[in-house]
Order: sequence, then C-alpha cells, then structure tokens
Amino acid sequence: MSGAGREAASFDALVERLRQFIDDEVIPGEDLGTAHDAQAVERTAAQLRARAQALGFGAPRTAVAEGGLGLSWEQCCVWLEEAGRSFLGPLALQCAPPGQPDLAALEQLLTPAQQARWLAPLRAGRLRSCFAMTEPAPGVGSDPRMLRSTAVRDGEGWRLDGHKWFITGAEAADVAIVVARTEAGPSWFMVDTTTPGFERVRAIRTIEPFALGGHGEIRLEGCRVGPDALVGEEGQGLAYAQLRLEGARLFHCMRFIGLASRAMAMAQDHAATRESQGVPLAEHQMVQAHVADAHIDLYAARLMTREVARDLDAGRSIRHSSSMAKVFVSEAVCRVADSAVQITGALGVSEDLPLSMILRMVRPFRIYDGASEVHRAAIARRAFTRRLRP
Ligand SMILES: Cc1cc2nc3c(=O)[nH]c(=O)nc-3n(C[C@H](O)[C@H](O)[C@H](O)COP(=O)(O)OP(=O)(O)OC[C@H]3O[C@@H](n4cnc5c(N)ncnc54)[C@H](O)[C@@H]3O)c2cc1C
Repeated sequence: MSGAGREAASFDALVERLRQFIDDEVIPGEDLGTAHDAQAVERTAAQLRARAQALGFGAPRTAVAEGGLGLSWEQCCVWLEEAGRSFLGPLALQCAPPGQPDLAALEQLLTPAQQARWLAPLRAGRLRSCFAMTEPAPGVGSDPRMLRSTAVRDGEGWRLDGHKWFITGAEAADVAIVVARTEAGPSWFMVDTTTPGFERVRAIRTIEPFALGGHGEIRLEGCRVGPDALVGEEGQGLAYAQLRLEGARLFHCMRFIGLASRAMAMAQDHAATRESQGVPLAEHQMVQAHVADAHIDLYAARLMTREVARDLDAGRSIRHSSSMAKVFVSEAVCRVADSAVQITGALGVSEDLPLSMILRMVRPFRIYDGASEVHRAAIARRAFTRRLRP
C-alpha cells in the first residue's frame, strides 16, 4: 500500500472509532431532560472530554506534536460531521465554538510570550476563551463599522470601555478576546475575565439547547489591561475577525450537516413504522418528497463544504466560496431539520425526541457568522464589482 493509501486507511479507522464513540457513549450521554441546565451539560461534557482524551481523540486541527490530530480541513469535514451528530460531540472532542475558532486564530496571531501565557493553557483545556465583538444597538452587529467599544492608551497598557452581548461561552470563559476601537481602528485584546472592570451582566437565554457557557452579556468599565493584551497589530481587528470567522463558519457547516442528517435518519425510521390511511408514512408521496429534498440538500451541503475545505487546504482564498457555502448550508440544515419535525408530527415538536432541539440548534446559524442577507449582499457585490461569472 502507498504512503497515501496507508494514511487514508488509518484515517478511516480513526473515523470508525469516533463513530462508535459517538453512537455508544456520546449520544447515550445526551439527557434531554437537562438540556437547558448548563451545569448538568458541563458535567456530562467534562466526563466525555476525559473519555475522548483517553481514547486519543485530540483536537482535530491542532498539530500532532501539540497533542492534536493534525487533520486537514478536508478530513475535518468527515470528523466534524461524525462528532456533530450529537449535541455533545463537538464539546467532547475539542471542536466546539468558541474555543476551536479562537485557538485557530490565536495560533497565528500571538507572540511567543503571549502564547506561553494564554495559548498553551487554552490548548491544554486549563483555560477557556470567548470572542466578544457584538454589541447592543447602536453598537456593532452585522455592520462592523458600528463598533463602539473603545481601548485607549493608559500608561503602558490600555483602558477598555464597552458593552457586549450574545458572547458564546462568556459565562465559563477565563479570557475574552475583546474587539475594541483604538485610534488605529478595531483591535483585539486578551482580557482575563477576573480583571476589575470586566463584568458579566447575565447569560442570555436563547432557543438553543446544550448551550455550554451560555451566550453572555458583558460590560467593560475602566477595564485596565497590560501592553501584552494587544493581539497582533493595532487596527487589524476586522481582518483578524474575518480570519477567525472563515474557519469557524466552515466548522459550523460540518457539524450541523451531522446533526441534520441524524434528524432526518430518525424521521425516516419514524416514517417507516407510523401508519396513516392504512400504509406507512414512508409510502405517502409528500413524505417521500420531504425525504428526497433532505437528501439532496445534505448531499449538496457536503459537496460545498468539502470544496471550501479543499480550497483552505490549498491556501486559496475562501472569502467568496465560504460565504456561498455558509448561506446554503445554514439554510439547508434548517430545511432538513424542519422536515424531520414535520414528518414526525407532534412527537417531533416535543422534547421526548431530540428533533425539536436539533431544529432550535441549527436555526441561529442563519444569523451568526454573518446573516444570510449580509452574505448574499456581499456575494452579489463581488459578482458585480469583479464581474464574476456564475
Ligand atoms: C447563538 C448566537 C451566538 C453568538 N455568538 C457570538 C459570539 O460568540 N461573539 C460575538 O461577538 N457575537 C456573537 N453572536 C452575535 C452575532 O454575531 C450577531 O447576531 C450577528 O453579527 C448579527 O448582528 P445582530 O444580531 O446585531 O443583527 P443586526 O445587525 O441587527 O441584523 C438583524 C437582521 O437584519 C438583517 N440585516 C442586517 N444587515 C443587513 C444588510 N446589510 N442587508 C440586508 N439585511 C441585513 C439580517 O436579516 C439580520 O439577521 C451570536 C449570535 C447568536 C444568535
């Protein structure tokens, strides 16, 4: 067998072991009754994380020398889809936001001294991060130019003031990457969450189940940080956010394809046994249409995601392609999850099955990491300004 053949076979074997772990331990660990209890979710996730580490499942994008699996982006498509079949999979396998995309960006941006202070413990799971950009009106949401939080020089360091919300993982975070405006423009700062002036206001309840660390509201008032808190270059904060988001949205696409596939598989099982008008639901053409459309959506979603992943592996720009994939996949997984609920009837909207939770889990993806409308506007703008042919 060639070297590439051996590598592919060992990756296939690794994925098979992951599949068994997800089926035998992670999905059975989902307690739908405590899906809205962050502490209970954290306890289960911690147990599964330890188990995943014992099985040798390191973080997928982290280098092997750093204890990770060193997977390519294309291999991650397979890995994340398997992990993503369970709400708890990405949490157990160190590939859930905000930690994974934060690490991916910080690995490229932090100095050696900053890496020793923040990156090493983040990699080892001793620290948790969150990414704090979005602000209540009139602050930044879809339009990055509306950033209002400020960072002004204060002696050697900086003084940060601002108001952030919907910050995933804020409740559990030890360090926040805060995006604030300096004289040079939007910039990133590493802010330890115990710093005086850093206040967690509340955890915002959303429709998502299994929301580990919640989506937090934060206030920064006279929050003083040292000179080493500045990440990379002053004024480059939006470019860095773009860097972080491109990989992050690809990871969301991968894991939500897994979750939506699981929903439709459950709906198909239901349709095969539940009867209406003397025949299984599966024999009614309108149910068949739901199933067929879901398969088409998921097939296309996988192809788009893998193509973008290949571009990323090859070092090509994914700005345009990842926008198109993000819009398509985020909408496709919603259609699939919605059809799964529809096929399963009243049981589908209950919390006896995970289907309604899957629908609620994938719905916000049409808003975060760029709302569909914002991506469509950007795709069309590029099409006209660069005269792109479809
Ligand atoms: C579950 C969840 C997790 C999140 N996690 C984080 C996080 O960890 N860190 C963080 O910083 N932020 C996070 N966010 C916030 C997210 O980034 C913002 O919700 C997003 O940028 C949109 O901003 P907004 O909600 O203020 O919507 P707005 O900007 O107010 O837009 C509202 C709607 O208006 C429409 N719209 C907006 N602009 C345009 C336009 N130019 N053209 C056409 N239509 C438009 C879209 O339909 C959009 O959904 C999260 C959000 C959610 C829901």
